[in-house]
Amino acid sequence: MSTKYIFVTGGVTSSLGKGILAASLAKLLQARGFSVTIQKLDPYINIDPGTLNPYEHGECYVTEDGAETDLDLGHYERFLNIPTSQANNVTTGRIYQSVINKERRGDYLGKTVQIIPHITDEIKMNIKLLGDQGKYDFVITEIGGTVGDIESLPYIEAVRQLKWEMGKSALVIHLTLVPYLSASGELKTKPTQHSVKALLENGVQPDILVLRTEHNLSDSLKEKVALFCNVEKEAVVQSIDVSTIYEVPLKMKEENLDRIVLKKFNLPTDREPALDDWNSFLNKYKNPLHTVEIGLVGKYVELHDAYKSIAESFIHAGAVNECKVNIHWIHSEKLNSENVAETLKDLNGILVAPGFGHRGIEGKIEAVRYARENNIPFLGICLGMQVAVIEFARNVLGMHGADSTEMNEATEYPVIDLMEEQKVITNMGGTMRLGAYACNVKPGTKFFDAYQREQIFERHRHRYEFNDKYLSKFIEKGFNPVGINPETGLVEAFELENHPWFIGVQYHPEYSSTVLKPNPLFVAFVKACFIG
Ligand code: GLN
Repeated sequence: MSTKYIFVTGGVTSSLGKGILAASLAKLLQARGFSVTIQKLDPYINIDPGTLNPYEHGECYVTEDGAETDLDLGHYERFLNIPTSQANNVTTGRIYQSVINKERRGDYLGKTVQIIPHITDEIKMNIKLLGDQGKYDFVITEIGGTVGDIESLPYIEAVRQLKWEMGKSALVIHLTLVPYLSASGELKTKPTQHSVKALLENGVQPDILVLRTEHNLSDSLKEKVALFCNVEKEAVVQSIDVSTIYEVPLKMKEENLDRIVLKKFNLPTDREPALDDWNSFLNKYKNPLHTVEIGLVGKYVELHDAYKSIAESFIHAGAVNECKVNIHWIHSEKLNSENVAETLKDLNGILVAPGFGHRGIEGKIEAVRYARENNIPFLGICLGMQVAVIEFARNVLGMHGADSTEMNEATEYPVIDLMEEQKVITNMGGTMRLGAYACNVKPGTKFFDAYQREQIFERHRHRYEFNDKYLSKFIEKGFNPVGINPETGLVEAFELENHPWFIGVQYHPEYSSTVLKPNPLFVAFVKACFIG
């Protein structure tokens, strides 16, 4: 079958869940046996979100091929259980960079380089790139931002042109909000009408409208929206608030979103999506037998999106264990030796989060110490692993002032240090150790028990690394390097002997956790937390 293109645009406000909608539709199509991929176009000028503070857009998600991407790509992978790549996330910065490079090379043969057609052609090329691979029945493209934003205009124009060129092989789904006014007890359609008008002004007629709502929408309301927006009544569907994002595919199935899409493409709708695995996950997730309290210690905890993949990994790993994981968000800057015991005393497990820079580091070290000395299951991820190394150096090996050279360049004991290849780098964007690397797993360890295999591939995003120079001193005191990079010999993971479960990993296990394939390290950690 020739590739079909589905564009998802948003109106009225941001944060309506375009990413979850795209992922849910993709899931339903995948469950009907189609191959599907999802792409996100971000209108900002950064080349990628790698240089963005997490407070801006939440977590930076890393793909296997080492692209630093929008957190929606994490949802795509978690829902579809297939990897994404650099091609799945394109920003205005990347589009302009490519056009400007072409201009400098002389590719435009003296033409005036303009937003239309050069920028829009570049956007169209990036959309078609995935379809041209010949692997996908459907390419779903989510346009970031809200219709009406100045910076979204070239994307909407590219969608208009593609829809015109592709005819019956493309359709547009527009996601809007139907607010409920509690004072008058009414659901209001006007914002939706206005947002469709804004799309129409740009020449795009949506084929399907998805209306986010807190209350069920009546038939007459849907009819009204259909009439005012030139959309068939059947193609006006509601997306009601649900308790977990993983229920959205089922809600969209109830609303027949997948059937409507297939009908519009003249594709058969006789089969039903196979969602047994998905339902069994939801069932376990909703009916837990145990509960654990896990502290997530980080410096961006006010914004939970900054740790999106970690929070989702706990949902996946919790479901496997039939265990509800309550995350306690603990601000590392507020922790100190005086309050650490009081703050962490009721927790069954402690996770120290990834991060950059020195803010909150001492609080993280206190949390590590508390977990180590009190036999509380501990997982340190990336910076969380690095602070666990620092804590061990300072408090077990007596190396006072031991540090990472990221925090203190002049430290006497640089137990975490810049990797050799990083020392010459001056540009900050896209230059970390990024993407999936192999790691050999030492048999006979808790780490091996978790993964049950001798080699794993996990994703990285860091510049600093355990300093091998100190390894023998660490080993003498019960620090076991259990995960080693086969090419460089770098320590990717360690565990502590004489502790029930204490593991630090230089990589990010959270990026590879999906609903159907929870990350084994998270599964083992949750288990360790409830068996205590
Ligand atoms: N700041 C640390 C480094 O660059 C850790 C990075 C992280 O936690 N992702 O190595």
